[in-house]
Amino acid sequence: MVIRVLPPAVAAGIAAGEVIERPASVVKELVENALDAGASAVDVEVRQGGLASIRVSDDGCGIAADELGLAFERHATSKLRSLDDLAAVTSLGFRGEALASIAAAAHVRLLTRVAGAGSAAFVELEGGVVLTQGTEAGAPGTSVTVEALFSTIPARLKFIRSASAETARIRSVLDHMAMAYPHVRFGLRSETRTLLQTSGNGVLRDVMAAVYGTEVAGSLIEVTGSARGVYPVHGMVGPAERSRPNRTGMSLFVNGRWVSNRTLSVAVEQAYTGLLMEGRYPIAAVLVDIPPAEVDANVHPNKREVRLVRDGDAFTSVQRAVREALLADSPVAEARGLLAPPPAIAAPLPTVAFALPPVIERAPLPEPAAATAVAQAPLQGSGGPLRILGQISNTYVVAEGADGMYLIDQHAAHEAVLYYRLLRQWEEGQPEVQPMLEPLPVELTPEQVEALPGAQPTLERYGVTLEPFGDATWLVRSVPLMARSISAAKLVAEVLDAHRGGGGAETHLAVAASIACHSAVRAGQPLGAQEMEALSSALLAEDIPQHCPHGRPTMLRVTTSALEREFGRS
Ligand code: ADP
Ligand code: MG
Repeated sequence: MVIRVLPPAVAAGIAAGEVIERPASVVKELVENALDAGASAVDVEVRQGGLASIRVSDDGCGIAADELGLAFERHATSKLRSLDDLAAVTSLGFRGEALASIAAAAHVRLLTRVAGAGSAAFVELEGGVVLTQGTEAGAPGTSVTVEALFSTIPARLKFIRSASAETARIRSVLDHMAMAYPHVRFGLRSETRTLLQTSGNGVLRDVMAAVYGTEVAGSLIEVTGSARGVYPVHGMVGPAERSRPNRTGMSLFVNGRWVSNRTLSVAVEQAYTGLLMEGRYPIAAVLVDIPPAEVDANVHPNKREVRLVRDGDAFTSVQRAVREALLADSPVAEARGLLAPPPAIAAPLPTVAFALPPVIERAPLPEPAAATAVAQAPLQGSGGPLRILGQISNTYVVAEGADGMYLIDQHAAHEAVLYYRLLRQWEEGQPEVQPMLEPLPVELTPEQVEALPGAQPTLERYGVTLEPFGDATWLVRSVPLMARSISAAKLVAEVLDAHRGGGGAETHLAVAASIACHSAVRAGQPLGAQEMEALSSALLAEDIPQHCPHGRPTMLRVTTSALEREFGRS
């Protein structure tokens, strides 16, 4: 084999392929250029999913006629001067590769006019080579037309499934540009159909209406940022009922750039802890502003991936902002269907008399301290503490609140209480610890030993201390106080397994959920009046008392008016 330097056309084709993966990447790059040029309106027209043609027109600053040739040179950009600039990029583009790459892969015509110029300038290229150049009439701004995309790189075409799938991707690009730039008016047309039109009035909810429809947009909860976060965050998130079985509704932005970033998406997901079942994902548009020097967008040619210098700060900023927005918006689930008449009701009225339970435990009213805690809880409509009436099936606590009857699932409720307590201890860095009387030896698998350095800080912050003791054996010296009745070996194994594959800023949440689940009172366990009392007050004192960390409800309510309706009193 002889080593050869590739001819320029081949090298250009390879480089072009990195930036321009598919028609949607062309649209993305051209729209980014329009936004970098300060456009207030961007119009996109595509035919056959962009394979036949793409036109992106803007009313931005335009390109001076004498710089037109330069714009299509590789690494020619007006946005960067030095390596220092690269460390703190504020524009969407910075590589100076998009126009060169597009021109290498298609037939391109660019028409542009700067404000004040007498006429517009145009240039036409084919396979990266200038065909014609000149002036003609044209509005201020820039319009780029791309035809016969990938006719020079047939291999690319093989990966493109269908025009409609490509149109959907292009639509997604525009949707996200619109979310990040509500002040810009975006239009997208495919053949003769308008797929997206925003007003550019600066209102994110209006953009969300254009993208998801007015009904969804109306249900969205505004995120305005958390005083406890490091970075400013804003956006809109969906209520739990609007969740989806995949992450397609989750849109994340860093400094106006639509990104795919695991830390941020987990932060949003974790904000829904206790509100969404596992495997369900919210609709969300969450935008975080991070000083450019703390973001590296130069990770991948398509710039969708960003590296965040202070990953943990980004995580907590987003998680808290979204969580706080959701807190104000989580009512107790109504016990729907619970009051349906029994099926035998049509037959002759049953003669069985209601047997009242022989003993109804009259629990004392909650202590004043508990009552205060209840008043702080944003439990909408509950209007006060719960009066415990008893327990059903050794599993459900029955209580009366100001507006009806409450049924509490004792396991789910206790789990939620323990989970949030653990998280508070984690945040304060002050675990309640139970030292072991006798250190407990645990055997670790090689994978677990490997995960140990990464997991150790999590373990310690929850109060689990491990000491090396021979090859694969470690000694557990202490466990979290609330976990004293569970198997320390099992706990350690679970934490280590959660950290395999690196773990993330959020792994500790899974650990807390696991400790809480194992430590909580089981279903089927009889509870005394005081225990039920303590459980319900502790539950009501939580931020989101209505759901356990797995998203199952902790309590259901049957309102007094529902009872009145069912008994024909209203
Ligand atoms: P980059 O965006 O990384 O600078 P591009 O290849 O996308 O590289 O664009 C090259 C240059 O052409 C830009 O830096 C900019 O000066 C100019 N340009 C491209 N598109 C536009 C546009 N729509 N309006 C004004 N200038 C543009
Ligand atoms: Mg660009």
